Amino acid sequence: MATISKENYLKTIFLQNSLSGKMITSTELAKELNVSKAAISEMANKLSQQGFIEYKKFKGIKLLAKGKKIAVDVIRKHRLWELFLIETLGLSWDEVHAEAEKLEHCTTLNLIDKIDEHLNFPILDPHGEPIPNKKGEFRAEKNDIPMKECFIDKKYLIVRVNDRSDELMKYLSKINVYLNKEITVLEKINFDGSILIENDKLKQMLSEKITENIFVREIEK
Ligand SMILES: [Zn+2]
Repeated sequence: MATISKENYLKTIFLQNSLSGKMITSTELAKELNVSKAAISEMANKLSQQGFIEYKKFKGIKLLAKGKKIAVDVIRKHRLWELFLIETLGLSWDEVHAEAEKLEHCTTLNLIDKIDEHLNFPILDPHGEPIPNKKGEFRAEKNDIPMKECFIDKKYLIVRVNDRSDELMKYLSKINVYLNKEITVLEKINFDGSILIENDKLKQMLSEKITENIFVREIEK
């Protein structure tokens, strides 16, 4: 079993679990990883024999301590690399995810600890995702909501963006939507779920597909 696919498998289970709060099924995992259900079951059997996961057919997959440790280490590497590539090497927002997807599998714990120290132990990655520390603890609060659930006439701060699509990153950079930006929600169009916002005194229309992938926090008055 290749290390990369095992790491991606465990990472995806961890991310999906923490997103939905539920156990991931093999169908969902197959869709996320873009492989067949048979391949997922085969890997699930192997990983459960080795004590990384608990796998019950029809019920889903749960990470055990040993599997969670690997998943969190890979996520730590991914998010620290993204920040390092932006802060230290000057890569752009939309370039770093693809690089980090590769680097996360070939970085030693020693090297990532050095990068962590070099960056002064950051708690958030460039997309607003929390970076686990050396002990595997996530220290950032996640009290943000998807932009699609915003209320009109309220001000929000952009706190997190789903980084999985380079196209989305590129588009957001183009229209000047980035982290810690203040926006006001002017109107919600019920017909197609799009939202009209005010950003830098400009009005912008964002589709539902975009607002599902941007997370915001209300600015208290
Ligand atoms: Zn990323």
